[in-house]
Amino acid sequence: MNAAVLLAGGSGRRMGGPAPKQFIQIAGRSILEHSIRAFHQHEGIDEIVIVAHADFMDQIREIAAPYPKVKHIVPGGKERYDSSLAAIACYRGQSNVNLLIHDAVRPLVSNTIITDCIEALKTYKAVDVAIPCTDTIVEVNDEGAICRITPRAMLRNVQTPQCFELETIAKAYEIGLKDPAFVTTDDCGVVFRYLPDVPIYVVAGETTNIKITYPEDLILAEKILNGRAN
Ligand code: C5P
Repeated sequence: MNAAVLLAGGSGRRMGGPAPKQFIQIAGRSILEHSIRAFHQHEGIDEIVIVAHADFMDQIREIAAPYPKVKHIVPGGKERYDSSLAAIACYRGQSNVNLLIHDAVRPLVSNTIITDCIEALKTYKAVDVAIPCTDTIVEVNDEGAICRITPRAMLRNVQTPQCFELETIAKAYEIGLKDPAFVTTDDCGVVFRYLPDVPIYVVAGETTNIKITYPEDLILAEKILNGRAN
């Protein structure tokens, strides 16, 4: 059973604006609805969980109403990983469940990426999606001076979905949350750190699978969606 998890529990502070960015309209629909549709129309996806910001539950129920694969709408938490945990909790104790955990603010995820993830889950218990870095990435110290440069050829920009056998991601968080120094910005990072023997297969992402973060991302996303519709 493949369940898509749409993380829509953020407040979207970097975008400015009164409401979280997942509610902004592009190409005639909210960003969240585009993400729901991307997974809903895929025949390999059995159900969808939406993790919502507690203040916007009703709005999300309304957006999700036309999509019968949406089985759970649950409140998220303070950090992104709290929202992942809320989705994992929906399936506690169940077997043969895969979770495809996706940023709801990546509405352009393609059928090919979803298919490749589902295929990879037949072999691997953890799957990431990434593209090669086009910028050089530098690490800076507390004074803002460069302290490390990793060769660009070895670097990837990570996207979502990040996909897991349920027991694997649940176990990784169980171990991780006992670590007083626990901190993470994504789910694969938790498996990488706390279950180091589990290989994380990387599926090819796409440059169009952008995370809507800044106002200028909206212009690009609108253009791509309108292009696909034509
Ligand atoms: O903050 P960031 O851009 O990494 O958020 C990625 C996704 O995670 C967004 O879709 C956002 O709504 C979601 N999120 C969440 N719960 C949080 C923070 C972010 O579901 N506490």
